[in-house]
This record gives sequence, structure tokens and C-alpha cells, in this order.
Amino acid sequence: MTDGHRYTVDLIAGDGIGAEVVPAATRVVDALAQRHDFQVVWRERDWGSAYFFEHGRMMPVDGTEQLADADAILLGAVGHPDLPDHETLWGLLIPIRREFLQYVNLRPVRVLPGVVSPLREVSDLDIVVVRENVEGEYSAIGGRAYRGSAEEFAVQEAVFTRTGISRVARYAAQLAASRGGSLTSATKSNGIIHSMPFWDEVVSSVVAEFEGVRLRSVLIDALAAALVLRPADFDVIVASNLFGDVLSDLTAALAGSIGIAPSANINPPRDYPSMFEPIHGSAPDIAGKGIANPVGQLWSASLMLDHLSEGAAAADLMSAVEDVMAAGTRTADLGGSARTEEFTDAVLRSISTQS
Ligand code: ATP
Ligand code: MG
Repeated sequence: MTDGHRYTVDLIAGDGIGAEVVPAATRVVDALAQRHDFQVVWRERDWGSAYFFEHGRMMPVDGTEQLADADAILLGAVGHPDLPDHETLWGLLIPIRREFLQYVNLRPVRVLPGVVSPLREVSDLDIVVVRENVEGEYSAIGGRAYRGSAEEFAVQEAVFTRTGISRVARYAAQLAASRGGSLTSATKSNGIIHSMPFWDEVVSSVVAEFEGVRLRSVLIDALAAALVLRPADFDVIVASNLFGDVLSDLTAALAGSIGIAPSANINPPRDYPSMFEPIHGSAPDIAGKGIANPVGQLWSASLMLDHLSEGAAAADLMSAVEDVMAAGTRTADLGGSARTEEFTDAVLRSISTQS
């Protein structure tokens, strides 16, 4: 796919502040590309809610086919106040995640310089949540019966497979091995008596292959409490689709602003492109004002560069972001007054002075 150091990246800015933070990322990545001697060919896709209002769908029928030969996908946000989530999510995000088997959802969390965590004494937070991203609790199997009557009920099935659990556990164990060996698995085997014991069994048999990785299985309720009380006790956390979704929002909040948190939807075998996106949505309340925090998007671009084997550029991007924040430049969500573009300009200046 890659022709030397030339990468094709599909760019889906999407909705709301996506149109403001994605250009911040492309400017910064282009500057890094020049310094690190690689090239990114951006393929802009005008998909999202505006596309929906014109065409009745979030992306073309053959959207995923158009993306299939990309080296990566960089996404801003999708979501519109006049469209239900099932249209925007199931019309674009979820088909891309599932068709490209992006079964790892990776969410690093750190308290960046100059940010005060809502837990004031926390400053050394460094956690990566590895969320299973294509199966588990988020399934289409189930239904409702006796609608509107007193007997009405709903059934929602969760589907866990040995393959699905093993591959995400393996990714998490490898990551833990590279970060000192601490791995926590979120479970609820005392209440969910079929799927969660299966999860526990498969995770522990996979992790057993990794010498030096210490596995703790922790009940999700206790884990939520422990993350608030003692976040520094955790490093890599592997969790099912639903548990990972909840935990990664919890940890993102610990890091001080939803505007900071990045994510990567990864297909580890690299049979398909992976997709990188901030965890925040389209933020309609601040869209168009030029004040969105671009850090979540920039950090996502850094994860993308890492995935493209441009590790030095990825590290330079994050150290520039940290420099700028340490110098006191902050957007409004963090109590500062810098606009998106000012923050991005400062990051570019910091990059230009890197040795
Ligand atoms: P969507 O429907 O697209 O998910 P949403 O209404 O859920 O959008 P989010 O984008 O998740 O909204 O934002 C939640 C809150 O966080 C909003 O008040 C928003 O302004 C704020 N926010 C989100 N992202 C940023 C950012 N990058 N910079 C500053 N504030 C942000
Ligand atoms: Mg939202």
C-alpha cells in the first residue's frame, strides 16, 4: 500500500467542529512530513450530515470500497442535532469499524501539562483503554414484543467469540508487555454468567502466553470506583465493547477535558485501513466559533503517524503539544482564551524549533 514514504490518508472532517479541528491536524502533519521526509496524500471526503441532507445517506453506497486502499483514515466528528445517532453512527462510523475489522479501539489517557484533572491530586495519569470494537454487547440480535402492552419486553443479545476475545486480548497483552507488564481486564462474571466467564477464560489463556505480563481481572463496578480513587494503579485496561465504551469516557474525563482525548480504531493485521478520531463529537454548541480544542484531533493524528511507522514524527507532534500547553496556551474548554488556529500556530512554531 505504501509507496516508499508516501501515505494515502482519507480525510473525513464530518460535522460541526470536525471542520475546524481536522485542518489543524493536516497542517501539523504536513509540517512534520516535511521535517521527517515523508509525504501524505490527503483524500478529502465530504461525507457526514451535510452529505446526508443532500443524498439521504452519510456516505456513498460504496463508501467503504472507496476507502479500502487507504493507509489510514483520519476522522473529525459525525453528529447533527437534527439527526438521530443511529443514522450518523450506523451510517458511517460503525460500518467503517466493522467492515475494516477495526477490532481494537485504543484510547490513551494522560493529564497533559497545564491541565487540572477534576481529581486535583492526579497528575501522573497514564492509562490506555483497549476496547473490543466489533462484537460483544453491541449487537443487532434481539427484539421487542407486545409493543405498548403491559407485557411488552425487549431482548438484547450479546455475542462473544473465542476469535474476537483472543485477538483483542493479544493486542492488549502485547501493549502491556511494551509498557511494563501491567494489564487489567474488566469483567462482570458474577452477574453476567455466560459471556463474562468466557471472556475471563479466554483473556487469561491468551495472556498466559506473555511472560512478564501480570493480569488482574477486576469487576467493572469495582474498577469504575478504583479508577476514580486510585487511577495511578492502572496502565493497560482491556474491556468488552460496552465496558470499554463506559470506561474510556470515565478515563477521558479524568484527563480534564473531552477536547483532549484521542482514539484509534485499529485493524492490527493491517488487512484494512485503521481509523483515527478524537473521542468528542461534533459539539454543535461551539461549532463555527473557531474555539474548539484541537488536541484530541492532533493526538489522534499522532496515533496515526505511529501506526504508519512514523514514530519520530508522532513523538514530535505530542512533545510540541505538551510544550505549547506547558507554556500556558490553552483553549476555552481548559479555561484559556486561545482560538483553535492560535493553538495550532503555536504547535507549528514549536515543531519548527525542534532539533
Ligand atoms: P455529537 O452528537 O456529535 O456526539 P455531542 O452533542 O455529543 O455531539 P460532544 O461533541 O460530545 O457533543 O461535546 C460535548 C460537550 O463537550 C459540548 O459542550 C462541547 O462543546 C464540548 N466539547 C467537545 N469537544 C470539544 C473540543 N474539541 N473543544 C472544546 N469543547 C469541546
Ligand atoms: Mg455525543
